[in-house]
Amino acid sequence: MKPFLSLHSIEKRYNNHLALQVDELEFEPQHIYSLVGPNGCGKSTLLQIVALLLKPTFGEMIFQGEKVIWKKKSLQRLRQHITLVHQSPFLFSRSVRHNIAYGLKMRGMHSKKQHHLIHEALDMVGLNGFGRRTARELSGGEQQRVALARALVLRPKLLLLDEPISNMDRASIEAFDGLLPILVDQGMTIIQATHSPDQPERLHSTIIRMEDGRLI
Ligand code: ADP
Repeated sequence: MKPFLSLHSIEKRYNNHLALQVDELEFEPQHIYSLVGPNGCGKSTLLQIVALLLKPTFGEMIFQGEKVIWKKKSLQRLRQHITLVHQSPFLFSRSVRHNIAYGLKMRGMHSKKQHHLIHEALDMVGLNGFGRRTARELSGGEQQRVALARALVLRPKLLLLDEPISNMDRASIEAFDGLLPILVDQGMTIIQATHSPDQPERLHSTIIRMEDGRLI
């Protein structure tokens, strides 16, 4: 079976600093992967490359059997299947509902259809009843969950999470841990960067250890 996503001889340099060097890395569909390693080891760089937001200095990526071409049209099409949730997400100073609807609006979805999807996404992240609240006035953990709902509502095939539970309390983490396998069952592949010592195993995820920009 062909991998869902594969990286071949990927390198990323910032000026002359080699931030990432990955010879071969394959991801299977409907699985959870955890990138684990110290600060600065290249986790975010790898996530941004896989999210097609950062062009590698060198190397090739194959997504769903298709070689990634770093040209606007091709990237726009492929990005429809991929969503990255940042550790400190940027939320508009508007309602939670507005924030979650944003991506749907950009895709031209009618507002009647949005309603049901937004409700479902809020339900998934345990923020039922938060739709009218001002997003920036929520706690850090709640804002992370709004960002997650904003990603989920787009139904990506590949969900990328940068330190998703870093600001969450225990109850939210438990809910989050319960949610990921459901998303996988629904067809998603998930790659998360995490500092949590036990969460990757709790999720039965495949652990990818990194150090100094390399896989170890
Ligand atoms: P992690 O997510 O594991 O903390 P990063 O991918 O953010 O690691 O960083 C990997 C390396 O690349 C670090 O040495 C970091 O300082 C460097 N780096 C990251 N982003 C930039 C940037 N925009 N410009 C210059 N160096 C960067």
